[in-house]
Amino acid sequence: MTVLGLETSCDETAASVVRLTEGRAEVLSSVVHSQIDDHAAYGGVVPEIAARSHVEMIAEVTRRAMAEADMAYDGLDGIAATAGPGLVGGVMVGLSFGKAAALARGLPLVAVNHLEGHAVSARLGAEVAYPFLLLLVSGGHCQLLEVRGVGDMSRIGATIDDAAGEAFDKIAKALGLGYPGGPALERLATQGDGSKIDLPRALLGRKDCDFSFSGLKTAAFRIAQTCQTEQDKADLADAVQNAIARQLSDRSERALAAYAETHEHRLFVVAGGVAANKTIRATLQATAAKHGFDFLAPPMAYCTDNAAMIALAGAERLALGLTSDIDVVARPRWPLDEARALSDPSHK
Ligand code: ATP
Ligand code: MG
Ligand code: FE
Repeated sequence: MTVLGLETSCDETAASVVRLTEGRAEVLSSVVHSQIDDHAAYGGVVPEIAARSHVEMIAEVTRRAMAEADMAYDGLDGIAATAGPGLVGGVMVGLSFGKAAALARGLPLVAVNHLEGHAVSARLGAEVAYPFLLLLVSGGHCQLLEVRGVGDMSRIGATIDDAAGEAFDKIAKALGLGYPGGPALERLATQGDGSKIDLPRALLGRKDCDFSFSGLKTAAFRIAQTCQTEQDKADLADAVQNAIARQLSDRSERALAAYAETHEHRLFVVAGGVAANKTIRATLQATAAKHGFDFLAPPMAYCTDNAAMIALAGAERLALGLTSDIDVVARPRWPLDEARALSDPSHK
C-alpha cells in the first residue's frame, strides 16, 4: 500500500509518500515547509497568512515529495489528506488539493484526522503492534487514549483547560523567547536550575486521568515578571519544564495502572510536538518502566507536524477498505474518538 499524504492543518505545508507492507511502514519521502518565518513577527500563527501560504506552497511541496520518493501517480494506491481538526482555511487547501489529485488520477481519497496521524506516528520509526496506551501531547491537545487501530480509539483522559504545548508556547512568550516556544524553552532550561521555584501541582494524585495547565501558566507568568537576569529566566524555564513533565507523568501513571489491569501487551507511546522534549521523554520512559510497560516515542522528525504520519494513517485506513467520499468536508473540530470510518454521516 503506497500513499501520498498531505498536511496543512496549521503552519506546516507538508507532503509525504509512505509505503505500508504487512504492517511495516517505510517513509519514501517527507517534505515539510514550515511557515515559522511568516508568523514569527506576530508571535503566533495568523490563520489568514497560513491559508495563503499553503495555497502558494502545496503544489511545489507535493511535487518535491513525489520526486524524492521517485514516485509517479500511477504507483500510488491512494491519496490521504488531513481533513481536520485545525485552522479550517488551511485544512481546506490540502483537502481540496488531495481531492483534485484523487479525481484527476482516479485514486481513492482518504480523509484523515490530524490527531489520528499523531496517534500512529510512532509506527513510522518502529514496528508497533496495536493496542497501546497513548499520551498525545501537542500544541492544541493533551489526551490519554487507548489506541486499538485507526478509527478505533477511546479517550481515557484529557486536559480541562490548556494543552501542554500551549503552556510551553505561552510561558515561552512571557519569557521573551518568541515562537514556537517549546524548543526555545527547552534550550533555555538546560542553563537553569528550577529546584528552588515552587510551582502549583495541579490535580496531582487525583484519581482520574485529566490534566490542567492553566494554574501553572498563571504562576509562571507572575514569576516571569520578576525575572531580573538571564539566569532567573533559565531557572524558571527549568522549573516549568519539570512541572509539565511531572504532571504528564503523574496523570499517565493513573492510566498505566488501569490499563495494566486489562491488557497483557503493555506498551506506552507518547506522540505530538511536546514528545520532542528530551526531559519529558526521559521522565515518561521512567514512568513506563516503573509500571512494567515498554515505551516508545516517534523519531524526532515525526513528533511535530508532518505528512508522513498522515500518509501512514491513510495507508492503514486504505488497507481496511476505509476510503472517503469526494464531497467530504473539512472539520475545524473533530474529536479523535469520533474519527470512525468513511461513511460516518457526521462527516458530511
Ligand atoms: P495539534 O496537533 O494539537 O493540532 P499542533 O499541530 O500545532 O497542534 P504539533 O505540531 O504536534 O502541534 O506540536 C507543536 C507544539 O509542540 C508546540 O506547542 C511546540 O511548542 C511544542 N514543542 C515542539 N517541540 C518541543 C520541545 N522540544 N519541547 C516542548 N514543546 C515542544
Ligand atoms: Mg506547527
Ligand atoms: Fe499536530
